[in-house]
Amino acid sequence: MLTLLAVLCAVLFAILMIALYRMQQARRALQRHQSLLDSIPDLAWVKDRKSRFVIVNQAFRDIWNIKDPQWLIGKDDFALSPPELAASYQTDDQRVMNEATSLQSERNFEHFRDGSRWMELIKVPVYEHNKIIGTAGIARDISMRKAAEERLSWLAHHDPLTKLGNRSYLAIKIKERITTATPFCVWLIDLDHFKRINDALGHRAGDQALAQVADSLSKIGSEVFRLGGDEFVLLDDLRHAETINEALSQQLKIPVTIEGLYFEQGFTAGQVDFPHDGETPEQLLKHADVALYEGKELGRGHIRRFESHMATQAVRQLELERDLRRALQEGQFRLVYQPQVALDGAQLMGFEALIRWRHPERGEIAPNDFIPFAEQTGIICRIGEWALDCAILQIRDWDEQGLALVPVSVNVSALQLAQPLFAKTVIARLDALPAHLRQYIALELTESTLMHEQALDSVHQLTSAQIPIFMDDFGTGYSNLSTISQLTLSKLKFDRSLIQNVGNDSAHQRVCRALLDLADALELDVIAEGVETAEEAQWLAEQGVLYAQGYWFSRPQESQIATRFLATQK
Ligand code: C2E
Ligand code: CA
Ligand code: CA
Repeated sequence: MLTLLAVLCAVLFAILMIALYRMQQARRALQRHQSLLDSIPDLAWVKDRKSRFVIVNQAFRDIWNIKDPQWLIGKDDFALSPPELAASYQTDDQRVMNEATSLQSERNFEHFRDGSRWMELIKVPVYEHNKIIGTAGIARDISMRKAAEERLSWLAHHDPLTKLGNRSYLAIKIKERITTATPFCVWLIDLDHFKRINDALGHRAGDQALAQVADSLSKIGSEVFRLGGDEFVLLDDLRHAETINEALSQQLKIPVTIEGLYFEQGFTAGQVDFPHDGETPEQLLKHADVALYEGKELGRGHIRRFESHMATQAVRQLELERDLRRALQEGQFRLVYQPQVALDGAQLMGFEALIRWRHPERGEIAPNDFIPFAEQTGIICRIGEWALDCAILQIRDWDEQGLALVPVSVNVSALQLAQPLFAKTVIARLDALPAHLRQYIALELTESTLMHEQALDSVHQLTSAQIPIFMDDFGTGYSNLSTISQLTLSKLKFDRSLIQNVGNDSAHQRVCRALLDLADALELDVIAEGVETAEEAQWLAEQGVLYAQGYWFSRPQESQIATRFLATQK
């Protein structure tokens, strides 16, 4: 019995020793795990099957400000987080264990002691002898990456200068509103003559002005966007339209102060309503643009509501532009020639080349119906080049036929003259002609084309190259006599409005006489335009006017008839 007891004691002692040894081993293992986990900079933890913490690392304790390493052991998430969040963690843990899967997610934590952070979370099951005994997790602070991502996404949708939403953000916001189907309005706002600020005060000042305009607009509407340049958009519910329109009209001049300099920045706006004026962001913005354009046509400083007839007008203009390009390609233009004659005996002195357009569907279109539009779109430059080439070809052709030549004058538009290379191109074309033909091309330009420095420079280059220049439509507008006197012009063309009825109307006669004296003083010969009657022609001849052009002598003629005119002169 005693031996049995001794054996039992010995066995118990051995078991105890083994248990103690095992516990020590386990503690050492745990200590090893602990220091391993503590060396990880991310948050790391292990939980048992009931989501109780078995071990957490230093980074984890730091973020929760836990001083005692043992404090959390055996507790669960409810000891740390608000109940709802803690419950969601435990649901995640259960999923990881039940489905034997790993979970990865990104979460914003508001409740950390040192403020909100973005964390990337990974949870995996923990196995022992092929059985899941709990979960392990790791969480990495990705706040910096998130901040960079947020900044990038902000930049993708905003204008850094004004902090307003940009074009792509506007498209998103319009789409959102379209989805909810509540009626809303879009105002497209364009600053008037904003380029002048940039030109006069520099781009930095321009930026300041844009920022101030953005502030003023933000006070008017809740959603304001900058589309780039000096274009802004305001977005609001239809029920606010009236208030906004009132506020906009009161602010038609936005106060701006730059470096102590105060001025008022005007703008023009086009307004559209959804769903009335369009069903997609593109349609709405296009129509707002059409209305804005109409506002500008009215002389700026207007808020124009879109009306459907504007769209047809805009479409027609687009068609016209397309047709003009096609007309050039397909040779639908031709020149007709109106004789310029000597008033004493009607001797042919020259021709004015006038463009004609035979549209394949619309028939003949008068220059006054397409030249102004061609000037707006810039296509006039190519049309002008074509007219010059055509006139040059005509001169060559007449020369080859052995006819006695007279000068052909070609009309030049303001836009052409404003091109820095215009004079050079004309000179080069004329230089390519045989020398004896060079003098037979003249150019007609109106005074209004001389507004620009560049235009004056072009004229100087042309006159230096001995190309005759006729001042067209003289007497119709503002005359800058000092400019005219400085140019080496060939002739002044008195406008039809000065000539009309000059045979009988004494008031007209006095004005015309005064202007003829002026032409004398400038030592310029005069061509009277639009002479329609014998009386007009006679009175002009009596006044010593040398040349005339008009229906009384001849209408503009097709090339073959002009050729016959020349032939009879021989
Ligand atoms: P413009 O340069 O003043 O040309 C004179 C216009 O008066 C021509 O009209 C001519 O047909 C018209 N005319 C001539 N005599 C009489 C008359 O006795 N009575 C009346 N009522 N009219 C007369 P058209 O050909 O319709 O040209 C109109 C305008 O279109 C031209 O005015 C010119 O500004 C422009 N234009 C014509 N061809 C060209 C061109 O090749 N290039 C450019 N840039 N403009 C052109
Ligand atoms: Ca002319
Ligand atoms: Ca004229």
